[in-house]
Amino acid sequence: MKYVIFIPDGASDLPIDELDGKTPLQVAKTPNIDKLAENGFGGFTNNVPDGYTPGSDVANMSIFGYNPAEYYTGRGPLEAGSVGIKTTPRDVIFRCNTITEKDDMMDDFNAGHITSEEAAVLMDALNEYFNEKYDDFRGKFYAGISYRHLFVYSCESDEDAELLANLDTVPPHDISGKSLTEYTSWSEDLEIKMRDIMYEAQEVLKDHEVNLKRIDEGKAPANMVWFWGQGLTPKLSDFKETYGLSAAVITGVDLLKGIGIFANMDIIDVPGATGFFDTDYKAKGEYGIEALKTHDVLFIHIEAPDEAGHAQLIDEKVKAIERIDEFIVGPVMESLEGQDFKAAILPDHPTPISIGTHTRDDIPLVVYASGRTGDGCTSFDEEGVKTGSIEKQEGYKLMSRLINEF
Ligand SMILES: [Zn+2]
Repeated sequence: MKYVIFIPDGASDLPIDELDGKTPLQVAKTPNIDKLAENGFGGFTNNVPDGYTPGSDVANMSIFGYNPAEYYTGRGPLEAGSVGIKTTPRDVIFRCNTITEKDDMMDDFNAGHITSEEAAVLMDALNEYFNEKYDDFRGKFYAGISYRHLFVYSCESDEDAELLANLDTVPPHDISGKSLTEYTSWSEDLEIKMRDIMYEAQEVLKDHEVNLKRIDEGKAPANMVWFWGQGLTPKLSDFKETYGLSAAVITGVDLLKGIGIFANMDIIDVPGATGFFDTDYKAKGEYGIEALKTHDVLFIHIEAPDEAGHAQLIDEKVKAIERIDEFIVGPVMESLEGQDFKAAILPDHPTPISIGTHTRDDIPLVVYASGRTGDGCTSFDEEGVKTGSIEKQEGYKLMSRLINEF
């Protein structure tokens, strides 16, 4: 038995006036997805547990078969996993922005979109400085892309790690123009240490030649680092041990690769998968077909509809859904013809055009099982699945339901 789970990120929506009160999923021409719906089962589900923000990381963790309430430890750790940084249970992994500080204010949370090359020099300078100054410095900076980096702090005990993981840090993009002192006024020893590192880094960065050059060129200097979004190394169980099936993931998004890596799935890198509108849909479909020859389960995630939702571009969203149908769902389904297989299609969360960001509303779900007659569900969209029979349950149960119920 093969399993394929199509994830058009953020595809579900609210009725849109310009589409005569319909949604992009309703309007898009999707003959292949329609076939799944007409011969399959429909219903609603929700991948975001109460109390969690509806991020793609949390929502896709559910789709991959893991309860975020049990396994989610933050974005920082998933990003570290995705770029191959090995961490231990006593490591606390922070996201680390290079920011522009001015008069104790968050002047620019991305330091003028500093280049990765410049930022890498600054991260190196910080590691060098702290390691030279302190014999026992327990932290390490890891350069990432543009202003997005990581900082890993290795605690002396499990208790310390737990405490630091719960430090009240704030996303830098939420405090533009606000006082930095106010958001770093922590009280305990370890917490003060984090603040000290941030401010000591500022001393190193503010006169660094990279920044002097940027100031000369009229650009914002990356004169400070900001720690946030931290967490412990997630302890996802091995997917194969949990479900008895080998799994592969195709996605252009690092956070999702991170989940796959922690669950010991195979990450299939597709050339041209950008995580944006211009992603190479055809290549994703072709690599998906190949992956299904050697794996029992394939998660194939496409970010484009979500990006269109954020950009509030109706046509782009409709087009993204149509391309997913034509170049991914169609070819993959055709390649499975004659085999025993089950397919599911669902977004991780809605990204309504009118709102421009994720919501925690329920999402439509269609499941198809070869050799079985469906339940009268008419189409894969916010209306069509209402006639379906799938009972709504927590999203993370979908994987075991796919195996056992359909
Ligand atoms: Zn999004």
